[in-house]
Amino acid sequence: MYLLFEGIDTSGKSTQIELLTKVFKDVILTKEPGGTTFGLKAREILLEDSLHSKRAELLLFLADRAEHYHQIIKKNRDKLIVSDRGFLSGIAYALANGDFEFNHLVELNKFALEEDFPDLIILFLTNMETLTQRMGEKKLDGIELRGLEYLISVQNHMQKSLEKLAIPHLLIDATDSIDNIHKIISDTIHSKRLFS
Ligand code: ADP
Repeated sequence: MYLLFEGIDTSGKSTQIELLTKVFKDVILTKEPGGTTFGLKAREILLEDSLHSKRAELLLFLADRAEHYHQIIKKNRDKLIVSDRGFLSGIAYALANGDFEFNHLVELNKFALEEDFPDLIILFLTNMETLTQRMGEKKLDGIELRGLEYLISVQNHMQKSLEKLAIPHLLIDATDSIDNIHKIISDTIHSKRLFS
């Protein structure tokens, strides 16, 4: 079972993934970008933010996604795989940053993923108040505030894109307690495993 954890920074993905490893000892953890040898190199280039062409950047993300799918997901499809971010982030950031069309992005991602989408997407949804708190308790200036508004717009793209895709998903209120969220996610995985 291939589970994709999605959500903007500080929404609580890694906290919950860490908790899951204690319940599901056999889980295979991975992430995008960076889950493969090529992915680590791609991640470095992407974090440098040195590419001038938005299309080149998108294609590098997609190349990483294709390699990640081929090297990690495909080989372990019968096991429990949890990926920290993946194609939904890819689509949301592309929509927020570039002049791309949703349907075109879905087709490109289908190609990278060999038409094999995750079995379940767990999307963490935060709000401005919690995001501000978790980004640091300091008072934010105008530029930093615009940075947070940008992240919320990426989150909106994630949610709207997910609504248009026919992929099973679970929406998580990221402002809920760590324990409650953990229970919701682990109960969902248990029941999915039972019936799959
Ligand atoms: P992400 O992996 O999505 O970037 P993290 O799991 O690293 O987010 O969480 C960011 C910060 O918020 C961490 O300091 C973490 O302890 C805290 N945090 C995560 N989930 C919750 C929660 N449900 N309630 C309160 N704080 C949380």
